[in-house]
Amino acid sequence: MSPQASNAASDVASSGAEPAMIDISGLNKWYGDFHVLRDIDLTVGRGERIVICGPSGSGKSTLIRCINHLEEHQQGDIIVDGMHMTEDVKRIEQIRRHVGMVFQHFNLFPHLSVLDNCCIAQTWVQRRPRREAEATAMEYLERVQIADQAHKYPGQLSGGQQQRVAIARALCLKPEVMLFDEPTSALDPEMIKEVLDVMIELAQDGMTMLCVTHEMGFARTVADRVIFMDQGQIIEEAPPTTFFNSPRSERTRLFLSQIL
Ligand code: ADP
Ligand code: MG
Repeated sequence: MSPQASNAASDVASSGAEPAMIDISGLNKWYGDFHVLRDIDLTVGRGERIVICGPSGSGKSTLIRCINHLEEHQQGDIIVDGMHMTEDVKRIEQIRRHVGMVFQHFNLFPHLSVLDNCCIAQTWVQRRPRREAEATAMEYLERVQIADQAHKYPGQLSGGQQQRVAIARALCLKPEVMLFDEPTSALDPEMIKEVLDVMIELAQDGMTMLCVTHEMGFARTVADRVIFMDQGQIIEEAPPTTFFNSPRSERTRLFLSQIL
């Protein structure tokens, strides 16, 4: 992390120009000796939808987890909505308030009802009154068409339903950008569509989205750009038509031939 990164005065927002939603430059990360992210530069504009794909182990999860500091990086700058990521706890919390995250395995609290899963961060982190939190939760549960299950526990729901709850829970915090890490890859095939439909609707509503997924139909439908990663690097990025019809790199071609 560069020295000025710890200085809030260097935040882009303070310059008056509208900053990109996410601006990553020169990002490098190691797990011990293992160089997991190599010289990543990535800018995501407001309202932009990006799909990231690539072989298992290429660093996709690590990259998106760095954006809300679920992983720390050793070199480079990450700026979210004009705010420089630093090691400062307050700054990390401030950035996390702008970033919603949906994981492969839903990560719902099993001992809390669907409604409580959607309320807990609102009341504890954002200090919203319970009644207001419940109203917001119900609004987003309606939106993912699962309001009728609000009083059930996650274990009583199908995988597809649980993932829709996880999306509603993230939306309750009114994020500026949503990160998805393979949200459908743990689901049975018949449940994939119900989750993708929610994500497509979100994209159509103008949400900024960064999605790690191998659902190439989704990528063709909503992505402004598709990014291919391999061995910790961004190998190729292009609009979906170009990416699928005429990939430049041999590695991208090989990958696509294996998944399409
Ligand atoms: P992807 O999401 O593309 O499958 P990951 O970002 O999960 O890739 O992992 C990239 C590489 O980093 C893999 O080789 C993985 O084994 C390694 N890795 C991931 N997390 C850790 C960790 N906490 N400690 C050490 N190595 C890790
Ligand atoms: Mg992963």
